[in-house]
Amino acid sequence: TSDIKKIYKMGSEEVRALKSVSISVNKGEYVAFMGPSGSGKSTLMNIIGCLDTPTDGTYILNEKDVSDMSENELAEIRNKEIGFVFQTFNLLPRASCLENVALPLIYAGYNKSDREEKAFQALKNVGLADRVHHKPNELSGGQRQRVAIARALVNDPSIILADEPTGNLDTKTSYSIMELFHELHQKGNTIIMVTHEDDIAHYAHRVIRLRDGLVETDEINPNPTRAQIVQIEE
Ligand code: ATP
Ligand code: MG
Repeated sequence: TSDIKKIYKMGSEEVRALKSVSISVNKGEYVAFMGPSGSGKSTLMNIIGCLDTPTDGTYILNEKDVSDMSENELAEIRNKEIGFVFQTFNLLPRASCLENVALPLIYAGYNKSDREEKAFQALKNVGLADRVHHKPNELSGGQRQRVAIARALVNDPSIILADEPTGNLDTKTSYSIMELFHELHQKGNTIIMVTHEDDIAHYAHRVIRLRDGLVETDEINPNPTRAQIVQIEE
């Protein structure tokens, strides 16, 4: 991105969520965004994930300028390239875990049995094989978070964006998610996560701190924490 600005307009009031942010992330990087509440982390993630567009500035994704794209082209990128884990999960309350995870595959054009098979595998990968028919409100917070992660990964996206992926989780579940991210990073995926927690950020190979809509620091982590094998117990 270069000189990204994001101004939210609400009536006569303006919120300058991003004042000027210029960063460049290479394929296969593992990056953590940190910074105080309100510093613009989610706003920047939404722009990177093509869910929102900057008020000003340029965003280049895979050598293409996103600001020139139509809504259809953006939707295609979101469906094929990007797996997004939201801060608020965004699960459908009436749908089962399997249906929630299978949802992105509808847009990708898979038939029902393939969708269910892939969704099942994705849930199994996050340790929820025995919860596929539960609805989100029948799960713990950590399990919901894992459903949201399974849904983000079901399309095998090359870029994974995760806003507070360990936000409400106990230490053990957090580590199992870091282990998952570690594997994805090893496989060549690009990972960008937002976190408030230093020990979670330490898994990333680069840490970018935002403050008041600006980049405060952008540092390589010379010695990232290695994920350990943690068994998820049900
Ligand atoms: P947190 O750590 O609390 O999640 P954040 O760094 O993700 O914070 P953002 O959500 O990016 O912060 O918000 C940056 C600023 O933009 C805040 O002042 C927020 O109130 C404002 N803001 C965010 N989304 C909107 C919106 N849709 N409309 C208006 N203002 C918004
Ligand atoms: Mg946020």
